[in-house]
Amino acid sequence: MAEIAFRNVSKRYGDTLAVDDASFTVEDNEFFCFFGPPLSGKSTIMRLILGLETPDSGEVLIGGRVVNAVSPAARNVAMVFQNLALFPHMTARENVAFPLVERKVPATQIERRLADVAEALHITHILHKSPAHLSGGERQRVAIARALVRDPAAYLMDDPISALDARLREETRVELKRIQRELGKTLIYVTHDQEEAMSVADRMAILEAGAIRQIGAPAEIYDRPASTYVARLLGSPVMNVLRSVRGSGVLEAAEGTIRLPDTATPADATEIGVRPEDLKVAPWMDGSSGRPARVFEVEPLGGTTVVTLAAGETRLRALMRGQPAIAPDALVSLSCDANKIHFFSQGGGALR
Ligand code: ADP
Ligand code: MG
Repeated sequence: MAEIAFRNVSKRYGDTLAVDDASFTVEDNEFFCFFGPPLSGKSTIMRLILGLETPDSGEVLIGGRVVNAVSPAARNVAMVFQNLALFPHMTARENVAFPLVERKVPATQIERRLADVAEALHITHILHKSPAHLSGGERQRVAIARALVRDPAAYLMDDPISALDARLREETRVELKRIQRELGKTLIYVTHDQEEAMSVADRMAILEAGAIRQIGAPAEIYDRPASTYVARLLGSPVMNVLRSVRGSGVLEAAEGTIRLPDTATPADATEIGVRPEDLKVAPWMDGSSGRPARVFEVEPLGGTTVVTLAAGETRLRALMRGQPAIAPDALVSLSCDANKIHFFSQGGGALR
């Protein structure tokens, strides 16, 4: 069993509280992601799991056992390193087998392990080739195979693909997800890229200054962010968050007057949030049922278009499919399902 958990773990470096009373449980065989901006404590959490750091307080558990006093070597968790460069003078097979050869694992065992990993990564047919004769994607898969060939209870990856270009990153994260499922291993993954976190994780933990703000499945956190902080970290363009003014059953943003649909507003709502894709924008016509708004700017992105609306100083971004016939300064009708509106209290906590 490779369940990994923190119970109220804190870690301080001088005046910096790098990890602030963190508790979580990563289930066996789970793809679990820590996501947060730079310096939010992600790498420190990984080092605490590996045993390269000791908590100031709280407990680190692996497989249900407190391991605070257990050495890194005896913890049976492996960090998959950022450097995924292959040895150019070795074949793909030799590259993948290298970590096992280095540890003097018996040859028959190496063969078996190599066959399993090669199959999971779909590289069996290219194992005889040297890196120079592989495509970029193939090289990447061989490098991951080499990283995964050891068989620990859990793998840790700290921003493993951030150095790759965007296209290779997209390909690699798809591979990683499939491999993790096929190998059936606990994988703890760190990233500062929201799209990567959303796409790979079974569940994720959102960090702010060392504290875990929310844990859940990506879709669940996206749909029900616990605070404006979490809401703004996920989604592109970011969620529109406006100061709210209550009046006559109408929800109204304060600066300028962009009005959202009539809805029951919690009494203590000070901010309202709407995701760009939840706003509906249509050319204004007599009898339009939405609320009037003025188009400020239009950004065509190919498959989607970002339309920025303005009222006074207030800006509201809407994400539309395709390339709608909407131009700057046009009057449009703005609407939104009432159940897509998020309410936040003073301090940013979600209200429902
Ligand atoms: P992340 O990986 O999310 O970027 P880190 O875990 O590396 O964040 O860092 C969290 C905080 O702890 C930061 O403020 C960082 O400056 C501090 N920190 C991390 N490691 C050390 C260290 N060895 N000595 C002093 N401060 C550190
Ligand atoms: Mg880091």
